[in-house]
Amino acid sequence: MPEANAKLNAFPVFMRVEGEAVAIVGGGEEALAKARLLGQSSAVLRIITDAAEAELLSFIAATGAVHIEAAYDAAHLEGATLLFAASGEEALDRRVAADARRLGIPVNAVDRPELCDFFTPALVNRAPVAIAIGTEGAGPVLAQILRSRIDRMLSPSLGALATLAASFRGAAERLPKGNARRRFWSDFFAGAPARAVEAGELSQAHDAALDLLVSNAPAAGHIALVGAGPGAEDLLTLRAHRFLMEADVIVYDALVPEAIVAMGRRDAERLPVGKRKGCHSKSQTEINALLVELGHAGKRVVRLKSGDPLVFGRAGEEMAALRDAGIAYEVVPGVTAAFAAAADFELPLTLRGVSSSMVFTTGHDLKGNSLPDWAKLAISGATVAVYMGRSVAAEVAGRLIEAGLSPDTAVAVVENASLGNRRRFHGTLADLPSLEARADLTGPVMTIIGDAVAGANFERSEPLAAHRHEGVASTAAEGVEQ
Ligand code: SAH
Repeated sequence: MPEANAKLNAFPVFMRVEGEAVAIVGGGEEALAKARLLGQSSAVLRIITDAAEAELLSFIAATGAVHIEAAYDAAHLEGATLLFAASGEEALDRRVAADARRLGIPVNAVDRPELCDFFTPALVNRAPVAIAIGTEGAGPVLAQILRSRIDRMLSPSLGALATLAASFRGAAERLPKGNARRRFWSDFFAGAPARAVEAGELSQAHDAALDLLVSNAPAAGHIALVGAGPGAEDLLTLRAHRFLMEADVIVYDALVPEAIVAMGRRDAERLPVGKRKGCHSKSQTEINALLVELGHAGKRVVRLKSGDPLVFGRAGEEMAALRDAGIAYEVVPGVTAAFAAAADFELPLTLRGVSSSMVFTTGHDLKGNSLPDWAKLAISGATVAVYMGRSVAAEVAGRLIEAGLSPDTAVAVVENASLGNRRRFHGTLADLPSLEARADLTGPVMTIIGDAVAGANFERSEPLAAHRHEGVASTAAEGVEQ
């Protein structure tokens, strides 16, 4: 809440400009900036200058703005609704502002607040929705920072949603006032119509809104299978963030950091469902059933998984259960651990002339007698990312060497990729078995094997082989989800 005596000296309003003349005096950078800003509206721009710079000229040509190519004269202002003195010359801007005042046209003089009747906001444009940020000229940089923060929060399709909403206003008014109408709009903006608009399916969105109008049934549930990324909060996608902020329930795995779960709505229900190796708090069947139950109850659910949900995330089973139950769902991709680990090591996963394919695998399929396909790919030069590979490191190394991969093949290992407490290790395939015995690695571990690994930056990494003491590996955080 603002302090009791903190009053706005500039009050925001939204002014109708459709088809109205908005005049800009000036031919340089300042005029171009204003022309671009006002060009986001349906006003008719009138640019008054006999010294237009090239960029402004191409703006005029591209937008069809009116160009009055003459030295400024007050007569050029006639009929203008708004005026910008943007010549960059103080004397001229003063003259323009004085004329405007005499003619009763509100004026903004660029960088001369004392001459301004109004200030221009930093603008988040999702036409017809607009968010205008003003600081009364105190902090243009602050306004830009706020602008980009707000911009990131809002779906790019918000404008399309608002336009659709406007077309339903009449129909919604025929619903009984109060609860029914409120529920229609809240389901409209947070339910199936909004999701369909987001997916670019406008006619589907229209049908979904019609369904909402006629049915009194509670809103249908929806499950978003969302990738939380490898751990660092700012590696979450903007879309994942938006889903989190709209969810009624967040169902999350053990590897997802609290800080990311905390990005959800404050009153969202948060349900941890495991899974860490050795202590599954819920079985996969139980998780599937939980998601179906929440969907039937009409909840908007975010099913949050570490990394990308479709990589060793058992999303296949969850999606099958949701499909069988007829519950709507969608997938939001995330940055998978292999990519985060590669970035931490500046490791090119594909390297011209060295490696042109990559394998996502887990060592856990090496138990049988036959060599899995990925091992053959490794031998033919693919870069191999091994998920959940620590407790089978010796098996992975042994089988690959046995199959013909050189024991000297480069290996990079990252614990807690993307996080502040990450640790990096480098060595060769022959060193890899030492990983199993390391009790000091308690976070999730990503192993990358292949000749491309030799292109990584080993400056801040420790040698893998240096650590060969005996010990029982802690497998607590391996997060078995294969
Ligand atoms: N869906 C996830 C993988 C889940 S399987 C993804 O796309 O990343 C769990 C395994 O992922 C862990 O055993 C580990 O091998 C790897 N992993 C997840 N987060 C990691 C991190 N921050 N650093 C290193 N490895 C990680």
